[in-house]
Amino acid sequence: MADLTHADWLERAARLRPVTVHHIDGADHAGTGDTFTVIAPRDGEPLARVARAGPAEVDLAVAAARRAFDTGPWPRLAPAERGRALIRFADAIEAHREELALTIALEMGKPVAEAYGIELRAVAATFRWYGEVADKLIDEAPQTAADAVALVTREPVGVVAAVVPWNFPLTMAAWKVAPALAAGCTVVLKPAEQSPLSALRLGRLAGEAGLPPGAFNVVAGEGPTAGRALGLHPEVDVLAFTGSTAVGRHFLRYAADSNLKRVWLELGGKSPNIVLPDADVAAAAASAAWGVFFNQGEMCTAPSRLLVHSSIADDVVDAVVAHAESLRLGDPLDPATTMGALVTADHLARVQGHIARAHADGARLRTGGQRVDRPGHYLEPTVFDRVAPDMALARDEVFGPVLAVLTFDTEDEAVRLANATEYGLAAGLWTSNLSAAHRISRALRAGTVWVNCYEEGGLNVPFGGVRQSGHGRDKSLHALEKYTDLKTTWMQL
Ligand code: NAD
Repeated sequence: MADLTHADWLERAARLRPVTVHHIDGADHAGTGDTFTVIAPRDGEPLARVARAGPAEVDLAVAAARRAFDTGPWPRLAPAERGRALIRFADAIEAHREELALTIALEMGKPVAEAYGIELRAVAATFRWYGEVADKLIDEAPQTAADAVALVTREPVGVVAAVVPWNFPLTMAAWKVAPALAAGCTVVLKPAEQSPLSALRLGRLAGEAGLPPGAFNVVAGEGPTAGRALGLHPEVDVLAFTGSTAVGRHFLRYAADSNLKRVWLELGGKSPNIVLPDADVAAAAASAAWGVFFNQGEMCTAPSRLLVHSSIADDVVDAVVAHAESLRLGDPLDPATTMGALVTADHLARVQGHIARAHADGARLRTGGQRVDRPGHYLEPTVFDRVAPDMALARDEVFGPVLAVLTFDTEDEAVRLANATEYGLAAGLWTSNLSAAHRISRALRAGTVWVNCYEEGGLNVPFGGVRQSGHGRDKSLHALEKYTDLKTTWMQL
């Protein structure tokens, strides 16, 4: 990858023939012939026409997963064999890293260098990690009187449906599909309609890597049809969702209106990033800017509220603005690009609406705020300071490259501001005082608190939210809890 130039990626893009059909029961499936168009954010031009799943295709995919679970080999394999299959799948992903990274950059607009260097690395690592743990799980035999034996075993729940967003199309998928498969479940994945191509390729790759038919199925389609059909399906045992809080509510309703399937929700965020006066200002500012503009700001964990002590606010904001202005906004296929295009024209318009509202509410624009005058969905990295806690920009998730800066004077005020949100996905804290770090991180209502860093971590730490950022955890051994049930067997001797 390091030696591929812009021209090389353009040439590969011209040759790419994306997979545009579902992967059901181990085979390509074109569905009824109905299709929808995927638009490339980099130039606003049509990229591919993709098979559109409706309830009929969802039924086929769920039936394949059901058969594979009820009578197929996957749940019956020795865990070590399941693990080896997942590791082979990870190897196949690595072998197709360039093609998959290119597909992601084309379909959702992130820089290809990040798709290759960050996303694909994470995806392969996730399948490898769960492949490696598959045979290292130990069940329980609680102590009993001499005339009985008790076993507490972890059983796969059955058919898992995963419905995921477009911002990290394959990472979000891998965080659900890998632990579900490792647990012995079978899976139907529905990617977002903006970014189906990488997931469809992943489905075919699973077949090529030898996963048995029906173990992993992928259907492309829109949320209100294909996503809804999965949410309501009586043969889906678990629905694992990542996406917006509004759609998360739909899935809870679908479960209530159907078979009470278990629903796991990874939802939106408006994460605070607190900088205390004793912080390393340069490091805090660099991280704050990187965090909020990474992936065009289309990050559930984006530190989109920068809460700075008023005594250092000028220094911090000046440095953040300088970082914003040093970003290279441009074609995602240019390896020198550090910020690509927003996913769709609609999403760009939504983000521009947030900017207009911030102006109207009286926040001060420090940099950015403009759409870039070229084809495609490009928006300048944007910083507003003098944001008041009751402004929309301090409360609403923008999901774009827009930072809101607020100031505080006391630790209590910082914590109060940080927690003044319906969300609770993540938070950042910058201080050189160990006691303050412990005290404040305990007081923050968030699934993850990063101290003197942001977005750090490995597969062995859980990820997820509290409050309206959802519940349940991806990554780590805890993710397996989503896809297994505990069975108690009590044997009287
Ligand atoms: P979205 O909620 O619009 O869509 C997510 C998925 O839900 C897509 O596959 C979509 O097709 C489907 N969907 C949409 N409407 C549906 C409906 N009525 N019924 C069933 N399914 C439906 O979200 P998005 O725009 O793709 O992604 C952005 C959101 O995702 C942001 O809010 C972001 O914070 C969140 N997100 C959260 C995490 C996390 O881990 N917490 C990670 C990434 C993104």
